[in-house]
Amino acid sequence: MKEILGIDVGGTGTKAAIVNIENGELLSERIKLKTPDSGKPEDMSKIIEELVDTFDWKNKITGMGFPSIIRNGICCSASNISKKWIGIDLDKHFRKLLSKKLVCINDADAAGLAEFHYGKGKEKEGTVILLTLGTGIGSALFRNGVLVPNTEFGNLHFKNNIAEKYASNKIRETKDMSWEEWGSRLNEYLQHIEFIFSPDLILLGGGVSKRIDNFREFIQIDTKLEAAKLRNKAGVIGAAKAAEIYFS
Ligand code: BGC
Repeated sequence: MKEILGIDVGGTGTKAAIVNIENGELLSERIKLKTPDSGKPEDMSKIIEELVDTFDWKNKITGMGFPSIIRNGICCSASNISKKWIGIDLDKHFRKLLSKKLVCINDADAAGLAEFHYGKGKEKEGTVILLTLGTGIGSALFRNGVLVPNTEFGNLHFKNNIAEKYASNKIRETKDMSWEEWGSRLNEYLQHIEFIFSPDLILLGGGVSKRIDNFREFIQIDTKLEAAKLRNKAGVIGAAKAAEIYFS
């Protein structure tokens, strides 16, 4: 059995668990620490180190999902974390910090990989889009099972701002919106996504997706829409899967 540590770094929480890569199941508790408000490299690195130290983990292979555009290991954007991350080689930085063979990919791409391999996206042909609704909106785009990385659909310009500032779950919480109010905003955003990409399936991820019954009635799109199967575990599972793909 292959066991890989998956780390999911988010704008609000940083989570990790040991994953059985053969079936995508968690072999340990999923431990979560608060992401420091500063979002700065030194503060976040400290928390990530602390988190990894809580695991009695001998295997060196580790995967990480990180909330930014990542090109060849380099952090290229920072919407919900400090801009000081931009330009840092995340692979190098975390390999050194954690003494692990590690690969880092975008957090939503990681969640998408998990859904594609073990969840609702399994063996789905056509265009599948996973949107993670959390602090920001992350996206993973698959065409016939192939991931197109770093899509950033939460950063689409929308309603005089970017989409994630209009329809993320954080906006719902901070503005204390009713399900109808937020569901209507999400509906507008999903209609926009549907019009631009003509997907065959849209999956909603992030913690709020388990409450889809509270807002499903406000969404009017023709595309098939479902809550992702792996919910808030998808990030750690997909991070581990990314490491398996990278190091095999
Ligand atoms: C970031 C994305 C990330 C998403 C979810 C956005 O603010 O730009 O890279 O995937 O948040 O964390």
